[in-house]
Formats: sequence, C-alpha cells, structure tokens
Amino acid sequence: METLACGHVAFAAPSRMCPHLVRPVREGVEHVRLLTGRRLEFDLACGQCDAAGKPVTLVEVCEGCAQRLDEDAEHGSLTAWRGQPGVDERPEAVDRSVVDWRLPELTGPVIDLAPFGADPGWLALTADGTIAELDPDADRCAVLATGVLVAEPDYQPWAGRPLTPRLHVSDCGRFAAVVNDYGRYGRVVDLHRPGTTTLRLDSGSYRTNLVPFSLVFARHEGRAVVVHRTDWNRLDVHDAESGRLLTDRAREPVGAGQRQAHDLDYFHGRLHLSPDQRWLADDGWVWAPVGMPVSWSLERWLRDNVWESEDGPSWRPLCQRDYRWDTPMCFVGDTLVAVSGIGYDDIAMLDGVRIFSVVTGAEVSTFAGPVGALFADRSRLYAAAPGGLQVWDPVTGHRTGSVPGFVPTCHHRAAGQLAAVQDGVLRRWDTAGGHGK
Ligand SMILES: [Zn+2]
Ligand SMILES: [Zn+2]
Repeated sequence: METLACGHVAFAAPSRMCPHLVRPVREGVEHVRLLTGRRLEFDLACGQCDAAGKPVTLVEVCEGCAQRLDEDAEHGSLTAWRGQPGVDERPEAVDRSVVDWRLPELTGPVIDLAPFGADPGWLALTADGTIAELDPDADRCAVLATGVLVAEPDYQPWAGRPLTPRLHVSDCGRFAAVVNDYGRYGRVVDLHRPGTTTLRLDSGSYRTNLVPFSLVFARHEGRAVVVHRTDWNRLDVHDAESGRLLTDRAREPVGAGQRQAHDLDYFHGRLHLSPDQRWLADDGWVWAPVGMPVSWSLERWLRDNVWESEDGPSWRPLCQRDYRWDTPMCFVGDTLVAVSGIGYDDIAMLDGVRIFSVVTGAEVSTFAGPVGALFADRSRLYAAAPGGLQVWDPVTGHRTGSVPGFVPTCHHRAAGQLAAVQDGVLRRWDTAGGHGK
C-alpha cells in the first residue's frame, strides 16, 4: 500500500481523478465521467479540465474518496459522460427474418398495436377509433369495435407531448382499454358485446399531461381486472366486466395542514405488470420533477392490504433521476425490472440499462448499450434502437445479436413475437429466432 494523491494510505480506487477533485475531495463539486472504453469504468475530471480540451492529468485516489464523489454524483454534481463505454459482444446465430404483411384497407391509419389472445394475434387501434383484429394468415381484418376514442378538447400539452390514444387488451382477449396518454380520460370496452363500455376512466385533473395514462390489465381470481389511475397519487383496481371496485379505501378526514395517513406524494406514470401477474412497476415521478420508478406486489395489494400501492411493505423505489421519467422500462422474468438510462439527471444520462429486483429493491446489474423501447422474456432483453432491434443477455450484459431495420413497438409474450405496424405493414419477428424463451 502506498500514500495516494488524496493523502490516504489505502488501496487505489478503480476510478482516477484530476488533481482538482482531490485533497480534499470537495463536497458537491461538478465533474464529468471519462469513460475508459472498458464496460462502465470511468475516471473523473473537474469542469475546467473537461473544458480545456487537452488530455486530463489523472491521479490515483483511495476507494473512500472515489465513493464520496459517487455519492455526490447522485445528488447532481455529475454533469456529463465523455467518451464511449465498452460493450461486450457475444454473437449468437440470430434468425433475422421479419415477416411483413400489408394490412387490408382500414378506415384510418393504425396508431397503436396490442397483443391479442394466445395465438400470435394482434389488435390495432386506428386514428378514427376502430379496434380491428389483424389476421395475417387469412389476409383480413375484422372490426371489433368502433368509436372508442375519448376526446379531450381542452387538452393543454406539456413540453410538446401530444395527447396520444393508446390501446391495452386483457390477456383473455375480451376487454380493451383505450386511454389518452398524457391525458385524463379513457374507457374499457367489452369486445364480446360491441358498443358496450364497462368502465369510464378518469385519472383526475392534476398534471395528467406529464405522464402516459397509468393502466394495465391483470388477472385476479380468474377474472380480468384493470389497474388504473384515479387521481395523480392514487391507483385503483376494477373488475373489467362488472366495473366493481376491488380496492375500496376511504381516507380518514384530518384537520387542516395535517397529513393523511397513507397519503402518497407520488405522481403515477406508465404501469408494467410482471409476466406472472404478481408485481407492478410504475414509471412515475415526485416533485419536482424527479423520475422515480417504484414497484410493489399486486398480489399483496389485492389479497392482503388495500394500501399496498401507497405504503405497503412491498412498495419500494428503485432509483431516482432528475427530470427523467416516461422512459423505456420492462420486466425481465417475473422479479426483475430493466430501467433505461444510466445516470442521475436527464442532462447526464448514458445509454444503457439498470436492472433492479422488485423483491429487494437492489440494483442487480447495469450495462451500457441498450437504447429505445425495451422488451424481455426470461433469457433475453430486446432494445428497439433507432437502427433496429438489438438482443442482449440481461445477466451478463453481452450483446448477442441484432435485427437491423426492425424497430418493434409491441411484444406478444404468449406468442413470443415482437411487432410493429409501419406504413400500413404489420412487421413481426419471432423471439425464438434470438434464442429467447
Ligand atoms: Zn481538474
Ligand atoms: Zn482518499
């Protein structure tokens, strides 16, 4: 052991620093991370060294001093990543064939796509509010519902986010929800009884335009239920067919200025359901604005504790990122959640994923590379990068393959397919072709 530049007699940390960040390590000093090209390893430089445009002199410091800067980074002192991370490749044979099918004439352009039934079936939502079943094998579309959109004439966009109608379908295939992402309203319709709305959805009036409409279908005691936002900080679960409320919970009245028991200071965002339907993840945010993906047990919520979605023992924040929410996220298997972006602030975010356990809340792996919408099965993570699909091993972080030019928007888990509708063409790819299961 030797005396390091920080003055401590200790082992050297993996990250080196410019001399201005040491002796002593100053609290809250702004700095950048200089990626070394070996996975996520980096050195650190102060703003002046970074701006000088010359190679940065780096000195060795102890792990404790490096740790202090890591903690500072979480609180906003990391201002940028420089250079490139290392991406490990482990190429595997990938069947790149994408099956294209030109849709028969529909009444309007397809604006969303959702998986339907156990066979590789798909439902499309068109701009004029039609829900159609796509049947590529028979080369036809069947209209299942019309007039399903909910207008919001008073919509005020925030940060350019347009009101975006979105289609969700229950896994039994009987119920569909059409909601307005970044809007307030939606509805659940019964596809077996055309023209029937079983539930009118209202997510409240407070800052709905910052988040996609929180909604996910699930199965509970053999019935389709719908988990959805009923206020900025409240979710409820209704039976999809009868509209019966399954999460009835009234707050006790309190005096002025007092905090309600179970009061949740959290703006719900896009919801994700684990494949085994036992866990929920929520891409919401806290004031102001800090993205904070959280997770909790849907099973506990419906069975044991009606407040589980507010402050139940399984409810846990996964990470916090300033100005960053409404980003790609997905379950990997039943108990892991991949969250897009490595960093603590939207201005200093590296392309990649962080993977968290919903059981413990711990970050179990982090690797650079994946960008775009995320999908996963038990063995592979799929990232819909702008140039095409990339296939990743979520355990080791290796990139194992790619399907150039194919940018899916939708995952049919039961059928093992990824798909998108692009210019009137349904494009599908079998995840088994990427060694997924
Ligand atoms: Zn410096
Ligand atoms: Zn030190």
